[in-house]
Amino acid sequence: APARIGVTGLAVMGSNLARNLARHGFRVAVHNRSTARTKALIADHGHEGDFVPAETLQELVGSLQRPRQIIIMVKAGAPTDAVIDELVPLLEAGDMVIDGGNAHYADTRRREAALREAGLHFVGTGISGGEEGALNGPSIMPGGSKESYEHLGPVLEAISAKVDGVPCCVHVGPDGAGHFVKMVHNGIEYADMQLIAEAYDLLHRVGGQTPAQIADVFRGWNTGDLESYLVEITAEVLGHTDPDTGAALVDVIADEAEQKGTGRWTVQEALELGVPVTGIAEAVFARSLSGRVDQRRAVREAFGASQVAARPDESLVEDVRQALYASKVVAYAQGFDQMRAASAEYGWDLDLGAMATIWRGGCIIRARFLDRIREAYDKNPELASLLVDDYFRDAVNSAEEAWRRVVVKAVTAGVPAPGFVSALAYYDGLRSERLPASLVQGLRDFFGAHTYRRTDRAGSFHTLWSGDRSQVDA
Ligand code: NDP
Repeated sequence: APARIGVTGLAVMGSNLARNLARHGFRVAVHNRSTARTKALIADHGHEGDFVPAETLQELVGSLQRPRQIIIMVKAGAPTDAVIDELVPLLEAGDMVIDGGNAHYADTRRREAALREAGLHFVGTGISGGEEGALNGPSIMPGGSKESYEHLGPVLEAISAKVDGVPCCVHVGPDGAGHFVKMVHNGIEYADMQLIAEAYDLLHRVGGQTPAQIADVFRGWNTGDLESYLVEITAEVLGHTDPDTGAALVDVIADEAEQKGTGRWTVQEALELGVPVTGIAEAVFARSLSGRVDQRRAVREAFGASQVAARPDESLVEDVRQALYASKVVAYAQGFDQMRAASAEYGWDLDLGAMATIWRGGCIIRARFLDRIREAYDKNPELASLLVDDYFRDAVNSAEEAWRRVVVKAVTAGVPAPGFVSALAYYDGLRSERLPASLVQGLRDFFGAHTYRRTDRAGSFHTLWSGDRSQVDA
């Protein structure tokens, strides 16, 4: 019998996805450029389900039922284009090419347009959850045509994570929508991790707590509003002792954070769209700063390392918890704003509540909190900001004083907390009756005759700053 679906690219992600498919009873054709990986998959896991090994792409294509569905799981970028170019001449109208790699959404838009021209469906699909998720149920974010989802939806939903019986997979929207949403997911992940790291740093340097003690704090937090995969694994990481030195492992790990680039993409796209995603940007920059080792040393030597006297007080742990929660609400609000802006820009008609739904399981930012986001958008799909939803408004309101105390403590002690600080500034920015943008406009008009609008009448105005300083209509 022909195979239901094919997978090409059998490194860790592709082989785990193929196994997940096979375990769900789908007959799955598998292919890899170098046949060794295909053979290894069959040898090690062939007994787990119904695999059809293929040595060539022709063979893979020939083994599939029509319309054909082929998942590409190779390195993003040029390798993905190479595989698509090789595949397309072998396919027929109506066949579906699914790219499950971490593609940039602009590449996905380009590929989708090209394949549509050739009568094929191109389905750029975000897949989150790493290798574990690929095997046991990831969060899946497919873009592409509605028609392709009619064929693919049942398969992808079957292998996705489930929360309360609901699959963590939904048709996100046309062309690059799936990969865009996956990108923002990763950006939010950056922000979330940065905020968690700042919370740890404050409890450590201001609170004087050991990593093991902070692990307990996070374990406690994971039973409340902050319950999430990242908070859970933070307790694990902080509680881990280095077997070689007996020290807390976190104290032995070099403090230079690396990045693969999806956080940077998120910020670049936010800049294009004009959406302030300050939480994600601070997280990306904080990683960059940590990696500038020579510069860090030079500044530390010039000024002396910042001296922090631990000043634990009764309220610190609870204050930091509240600051973390409020800042997290801001980071998510910004990420959702970015998806909304892209949806308008590209005509994707994204259902934001559905995005929160499919992130509840399988992916790195899975959290209890996402149920609240879904409820907020269910109540009002046109929400001006997540912050104004009743639940989040109350949460931020009640956290506000603690949040300010934490920012003051961080700033006073000289412990960098760019995530907490910028989240608070964002909130204060949106709340302000008047912003000094009025002065910025005045300055722009002064040196560049860029004009300004007035609060009391319509139109554009320019002041003759170097002349008689009178105002003229522009
Ligand atoms: P890699 O990104 O390491 O890619 C290795 C695979 O790509 C191998 O199968 C390799 O074939 C194939 N490949 C590379 N170049 C070519 C080419 N020119 N032509 C054909 N095949 C090529 O594998 P991963 O499993 O880590 O990731 C796969 C995709 O999934 C990537 O896009 C990644 O970004 C994405 N992803 C990864 C996650 C993760 O946690 N690792 C999570 C979510 C998505 P060969 O064996 O012949 O060299």
